[in-house]
Amino acid sequence: MVTRIIAETYRAKTFSIDLPEWTPFRAGQHYDVRLTAPDGYQAQRSYSIASAPETRGSIDLTIEEIPDGEVSPYFHNVVEPGDRIELRGPIGGPFTWDAVDGEPLLLLAGGSGIVPLMSIIRHKLAAAPDVRAMLLYSARSMEDVIYREALADAVDGAPNLSVMFTLTRRKPASWEGHSRRIDRAMLEEVLGKLGEPPLSYVCGPTPFVETVADALVEAGVLPERVRTERFGPSGS
Ligand SMILES: Cc1cc2nc3c(=O)[nH]c(=O)nc-3n(C[C@H](O)[C@H](O)[C@H](O)COP(=O)(O)OP(=O)(O)OC[C@H]3O[C@@H](n4cnc5c(N)ncnc54)[C@H](O)[C@@H]3O)c2cc1C
Repeated sequence: MVTRIIAETYRAKTFSIDLPEWTPFRAGQHYDVRLTAPDGYQAQRSYSIASAPETRGSIDLTIEEIPDGEVSPYFHNVVEPGDRIELRGPIGGPFTWDAVDGEPLLLLAGGSGIVPLMSIIRHKLAAAPDVRAMLLYSARSMEDVIYREALADAVDGAPNLSVMFTLTRRKPASWEGHSRRIDRAMLEEVLGKLGEPPLSYVCGPTPFVETVADALVEAGVLPERVRTERFGPSGS
């Protein structure tokens, strides 16, 4: 049952959902959501878990609204606290992280691709504070950054976590950070900051994931140390 809905940005909301039977999950996994119309028509989509595996009994899903979509506008405009949602999961194998998988972590998010990476960050903070992690998050503007406050709070208390943004469409007047799509030069800069070869997780729209994963390998990261999750067909 949906217990709480929070607006993260003007087009992303987090839905907290209590599960009737709790199944432990790994950070990075997702659930499949199935909607059934009164005439029997069904639509199914995948949504990553945003919460940490340490939060038991319920999960958070963060859904960005695709205006002409079938499922995401339903969540944004119809679903209310108290509603029941048909879910299947947790699902997903390679795109997961636990401390035994290694470090340092390089997390590369495009748009709503931040969602499973937030679960990984939350898990790291709760279970492996010594693990070094760096997030490079590509968003259109600061208004599009999901978990903006949660990320600022996380960095405040965690010397081993750093967060960088690159804003691809609109930047604040005083912005001194990057303002272009993630490319090889930007990756070489973050790899230099990490100092040793990272275990990398790349998540976002398909073209973002393919470009960034290729650039990581060109920058010297071994392909077997690059894990990817593709969210959708179009660019962010
Ligand atoms: C493993 C996995 C995990 C995912 N996790 C999340 C998540 O945590 N949060 C989240 O918001 N989404 C996530 N997605 C994407 C999600 O499953 C849907 O594809 C998305 O919500 C669009 O569904 P829709 O029914 O609203 O749009 P659709 O009816 O499927 O598509 C409508 C139009 O939008 C385009 N489109 C579809 N998906 C996207 C997209 N991602 N970006 C831009 N355009 C798109 C389509 O080509 C089409 O033109 C995930 C996808 C996968 C495969």
